[in-house]
Amino acid sequence: MHELSIAQGILELVEEQVRRRSLSSVEEVEIDVGRLAGVETQALTIAIECVARNTVMENARIVRNDIEGEGLCGDCGRCFVIEELFAPCPDCGSCAVRVVKGKELRVKSILSNK
Ligand SMILES: [Zn+2]
Repeated sequence: MHELSIAQGILELVEEQVRRRSLSSVEEVEIDVGRLAGVETQALTIAIECVARNTVMENARIVRNDIEGEGLCGDCGRCFVIEELFAPCPDCGSCAVRVVKGKELRVKSILSNK
């Protein structure tokens, strides 16, 4: 399961930060998840809750920011919302579209009460 390995990656990152900042617990973990990142957001949230058991993240609130996909047309320069990768430009039909937003998958911040 794809989401589970991503969740594990997030947990490892959080644990590393906890060690580095010598925190005792984590209160909140904020993650950015782009709509084009190729993950099922609901499944990811469940997977995170799952891997967080018995870890420093156990009682942490998971705040998920879903980031809209955005493309930039290389031909006419139009910026537009894209629902899926490889969507052509709605204005000129060009396929030279660069994804400028929506592929994010990262831990944005870690909050601790210590
Ligand atoms: Zn265009």
